[in-house]
Formats: sequence, structure tokens, C-alpha cells
Amino acid sequence: MDISLGLSQEQNALLMKICYNCRTEKPMNEFYFQDATRSKRRRICKSCYLVSQRANVRTYGQRHREFRSRAGRTYYQCTRDKAVETLGGKCIRCGFADVRALQVDHVNGGGLQDLRDRGNRHGIYRAVIANEPGYQLLCANCNWIKKAENNEQPRRKYV
Ligand SMILES: [Zn+2]
Ligand SMILES: [Zn+2]
Repeated sequence: MDISLGLSQEQNALLMKICYNCRTEKPMNEFYFQDATRSKRRRICKSCYLVSQRANVRTYGQRHREFRSRAGRTYYQCTRDKAVETLGGKCIRCGFADVRALQVDHVNGGGLQDLRDRGNRHGIYRAVIANEPGYQLLCANCNWIKKAENNEQPRRKYV
């Protein structure tokens, strides 16, 4: 949408402006208005402006996604670390202490139901941090072994 400056088309076409970006001299109507003020046009031509707008949208979207995932990860890691720390920081069966393979386990099973009740893992970690009973720390190996021993998981086919 272009607003006429009150000049005829011929007059308008005579007004040329050099695009700040592509350095091409273009007629005035190839430049968008800066704002509602009638005379001020953007420094860059329409095509350059559209390209820059698209680039802005993309980088903003990317930045936003990165920020969100980074923030989410940090928060997740914090709650998880605190929960692991609260439970002693190591597997209660074998003493394995690498936080990356430690899992909060439900002493009496029922993990899936608990997950459902609390909405997500954050809820469980928060419960652990609040010292609610019924949780223990197991490493991934011991956790799977315990589940197998107690038939906590429905049988699956493993390859
Ligand atoms: Zn341009
Ligand atoms: Zn273990």
C-alpha cells in the first residue's frame, strides 16, 4: 500500500532516492513510509526492506527458540540436580554417583501413576526436594534391574 504525497504520478516518478542498502536509485514509491508522517520514507527500498524484515523475523524466531530451550534446560537441570542431591547423590544399590545416569525411583513402584498425578517430572522432582517420602535414587542399571525383579514394567520386546 502506497500513499500518494499529493503529487501526480508523473511528479512522483521524478522523485528519486538512493537506497541505503543496495545503492540503487529508485523512484520514491519504491520506498516504504517510515511512519505515519507523510513525507518520511525509509532509507532502504521496498525489496531490501522486505528482505531485512524476513531476516529479522527469522533471527528473532531462532533467538527466541534458543532462549526458550536454554531456559527450559537450565530449569529442568536445576530441579533435577536438587532432587538428586536431596536423595543423597548416588545409587542406593551400587553407589554409582554420575548424575547423568541417576534416576529418581519410586520405592514401591507406581511411577507412571505418580507421573500422571504430578503432571510431569518437575512435579516429581519438586516432591523429592520437599522431602516427600517414597522416592529413592537408583542408577539406570539398578533401576531397570529393580523394575525387572518387581515386574514394574509391562514386558517389552528387546532387540
Ligand atoms: Zn535497495
Ligand atoms: Zn546402581
